[in-house]
Amino acid sequence: MDFTTEIDQRRRDIAARLPELKANALLVSSPANIRYLSGYTGSNGLILLLSSETHFFTDPRYEIAARRNIAGQVHIVKGPLNASVIQVIKRKRLKKIAFESAWTQFEAYQRLKEALPLGASLVPAGRIIEERRMLKSPAEIDIIRRSVNLNSEAYARVLKRIRPGVRELEVAAEIEFQMKMLGAEKPSFETIVAAGPRSALPHSHPTSHQIGAHELLLIDMGASLEGYASDMTRVIHLDQPPKRIRGMYRAVLEAQLAGVAAVREGVTAGKVDSATRNVLKKYQMDKAFVHSTGHGLGLEIHEPPRLGKKDKTRLQAGMAITIEPGVYMEGLGGIRIEDTVLVTENGCEVLTPTSKEFIHL
Ligand code: ZN
Ligand code: ZN
Repeated sequence: MDFTTEIDQRRRDIAARLPELKANALLVSSPANIRYLSGYTGSNGLILLLSSETHFFTDPRYEIAARRNIAGQVHIVKGPLNASVIQVIKRKRLKKIAFESAWTQFEAYQRLKEALPLGASLVPAGRIIEERRMLKSPAEIDIIRRSVNLNSEAYARVLKRIRPGVRELEVAAEIEFQMKMLGAEKPSFETIVAAGPRSALPHSHPTSHQIGAHELLLIDMGASLEGYASDMTRVIHLDQPPKRIRGMYRAVLEAQLAGVAAVREGVTAGKVDSATRNVLKKYQMDKAFVHSTGHGLGLEIHEPPRLGKKDKTRLQAGMAITIEPGVYMEGLGGIRIEDTVLVTENGCEVLTPTSKEFIHL
């Protein structure tokens, strides 16, 4: 997909906010924000965004790609990129340079500050680019939709191969193999495959544990397609699940559906979080729900908004978020059900096509 005009518009929108930051320029250093504003996907780049021009800095390894793809003035720098940034600051006599305070390491900040010409200073920019990134364009939604579908297809392929004795790591490797066979660049985060009581650790890493014939299996997986993440969690049982596990599953599913039903433009993220939490409270399981209800996703797997307790962010049509309540019982196991969802004016669209029925193999 050709994002050129869209990327130009993003830069214009962010540049238009420089006056409210009381800045002449914004120095962008976060890789996802650089990608968002330029399409650049390399590992060493900086953008200095002025009200009507863009300076892009990278090293000679990326020269060809940068000159071909990036609008604006491209500076190919041998050595630290900041030295070249400072030259532009001096040449353009920039006085106030906004920077990504959430992203800049203290040492990088110190070095930049010391190198500034007399009379120039740094001002924190907050997360203005992340704020704009919360709202996905139709082109971005199209990619996220494809990323979600690809992820679900990889899951369906792997599900057929899960049987007792298979190791968690083998399942994770198979998932990532299938994602790539389907066209994903990589998983959008480290795939979680956790069997039995280990599923009670919400972010456990897959191990060489062999999945037991009577175990619960939690799989949390996401693909990265054209830079955009998907995210889904499903729990299955290797044989007929015991009553207590079935009860947990029903409660979490009811909570997840209540969360989805609460999503619409204008409601606060906190309201959606309380919708899932209230269901679990009814079953006295809310204390075992130890994380927030969900998060935004896009170029990164975790982006604003966060759907946490009392979070005041109002949902808007075009946001892509996850709804993923979970209940974790030490020694027994964990249940989490997660879909990727698109906020619309009248509610939401659940993008994840995978069934939420509690299956056993
Ligand atoms: Zn997940
Ligand atoms: Zn998630």
